[in-house]
Amino acid sequence: MYLCLENVKKSFKNKEVVKNLNLEVAKGEFLVLVGPSGCGKTTTLRMIAGLEEVSSGKIYLDGREITDLPPQDRDVAMVFQSYALYPHKNVFENIAFGLRIRKLPEREIRAKVEKTAAMLGLSDLLDRKPRELSGGQRQRVALGRAIVREPKLFLMDEPLSNLDAKLRVQMRAEIKKLQQDLGITVIYVTHDQVEAMTMGDRIAVFYEGELRQVDRSEEIYQKPVDTFVATFIGSPSMNLLPGVWDNERKIFRGEGFEVQLNLNLLSGEYILGIRPNQIKLGPDLPLKAFVAFSEYLGSEHYHHVLLGQQRLTVVTTESGYTGQEIKLAFPEKAVHFFARDTGRRVE
Ligand code: ATP
Repeated sequence: MYLCLENVKKSFKNKEVVKNLNLEVAKGEFLVLVGPSGCGKTTTLRMIAGLEEVSSGKIYLDGREITDLPPQDRDVAMVFQSYALYPHKNVFENIAFGLRIRKLPEREIRAKVEKTAAMLGLSDLLDRKPRELSGGQRQRVALGRAIVREPKLFLMDEPLSNLDAKLRVQMRAEIKKLQQDLGITVIYVTHDQVEAMTMGDRIAVFYEGELRQVDRSEEIYQKPVDTFVATFIGSPSMNLLPGVWDNERKIFRGEGFEVQLNLNLLSGEYILGIRPNQIKLGPDLPLKAFVAFSEYLGSEHYHHVLLGQQRLTVVTTESGYTGQEIKLAFPEKAVHFFARDTGRRVE
């Protein structure tokens, strides 16, 4: 494997913030680390960059152990959310900086910077200072500075979080395209699950210092390993309904409702999961529910529904259900079961 983290742990004082992490990244892969604030994503990235020591474990890059190497000897570039550009250097010099440190010949520096600037649409801005650029342009300069060095690995820590929503969507696509065109290896940290889904070849979902699941986005969406991953990935979140499964009667009994499902599962306590867009609506369906209110989002509607005492979110393309009774069904294929005590997926 190109990048390999082996039993990596990190504690600050007595608090373990990264728990026994094993992670492999292939060359040319775009891996996204995602999870809520404080789950250890940034610390993981900083350990790979060499900005933070590991408490134990080993890190390998391109066949070489880098665990104890200083950052400058790792051949890794980091792009931050605060672009960390030099305010009084122009765009050219900001991009050229790493090459000047390496004392490359002037002609080579010029050629490399111009090529990178052209790739990023910065050719006309090379004389400008960072304060004369928009947020998106600054972000491109920060990317340019990393790209021009041709490092083995790109580490990006929420690089788009300072941009407005529209620009973020645009830059998201630009970074992904650039990564594919150049065939570079990227580890990208975000707490935004949409960014994770759209950009990552694979996604690593972290929670409380623990890597909960690492897989392709479809796999994570369709087969989340636990209730945390199930609710973190996908918007609006998967509905989780605690209840009891009776395998003889093939009935799941929740809070004030019963669902008949043609499934085979040991009788017992479970959490049933179903995504809001996979619940069926129709006049002849078996589950009676009440729509408390609906939200309009342009292309779809979110309905906040009561099924017995259980609250549910249902997503449809139709409007006009507020205050009404509706009929629902849970298709067997769309239903997930999780253990009530551990929250782990039950196959
Ligand atoms: P965010 O999305 O908010 O950046 P994160 O997932 O990147 O969160 P980390 O920054 O890796 O989380 O932090 C993980 C935990 O380690 C947090 O509880 C944080 O408070 C703690 N932590 C990080 N750096 C230090 C430090 N230098 N000293 C003590 N605790 C730290």
